[in-house]
Amino acid sequence: MSAEEQLAGIAQQVVVCTKCELHRSRKKAVPGEGPTHAEIMFIGEGPGFHENEQGRPFVGAAGKFLDQLLEQAGVTRADVWITNVVKCRPPGNRDPQPDEIDTCTSNYLFRQVEIVNPSIIVTLGRFSMGLFFKNAKITQIHGQMQRVGDRFVIAMYHPAAALHQMSLKPAIMADFAKLPGLLKEARAELSKDKQSKKKEENEPKQMSLF
Ligand code: URA
Ligand code: SF4
Repeated sequence: MSAEEQLAGIAQQVVVCTKCELHRSRKKAVPGEGPTHAEIMFIGEGPGFHENEQGRPFVGAAGKFLDQLLEQAGVTRADVWITNVVKCRPPGNRDPQPDEIDTCTSNYLFRQVEIVNPSIIVTLGRFSMGLFFKNAKITQIHGQMQRVGDRFVIAMYHPAAALHQMSLKPAIMADFAKLPGLLKEARAELSKDKQSKKKEENEPKQMSLF
């Protein structure tokens, strides 16, 4: 099965999923969207009011702000994958519960990450950050790129938090502005890795010639 088909298959499962309580109150589940092999993946928290109506991620006020931040960084939305920790709207926008997060991420998000295989994951908000950095404080690590396995992860403030708390706005804007430079860095590191892996694979073969 192609990567496109695998992602479409996950989306089909998400829209009819009943694996956690959140399915009871949702209108439309929001699988996420983007180009199959996007280099950057954004992971938000969960659908809000408008996302629940439309079945698409970041289409409300926070999404408009996200669009501005992306444009500023010279990245268009069509270039990136955008999804959430949980795919169904928590009622009244309450926090997603640990069991809901575990169920949804192990069934869907982590598979999406493996298939899209982005060089960089940008986490938006603390629940998304918590998937990669346990017990981290966003005030301390936001905007810093860290290696996690085969890719890089950067924690950023949630655009909705920055909309409500004006003091966070300069920080989130500065973090987004760093994205093009960080992407170059990530690409360079990952291609170095690939080359040294290839070299390791070839060396034993060369040895056996003698
Ligand atoms: N906030 C999120 O975390 N995700 C969305 O899709 C919209 C708002
Ligand atoms: Fe399924 Fe995730 Fe929706 Fe829960 S939040 S019902 S696990 S898609």
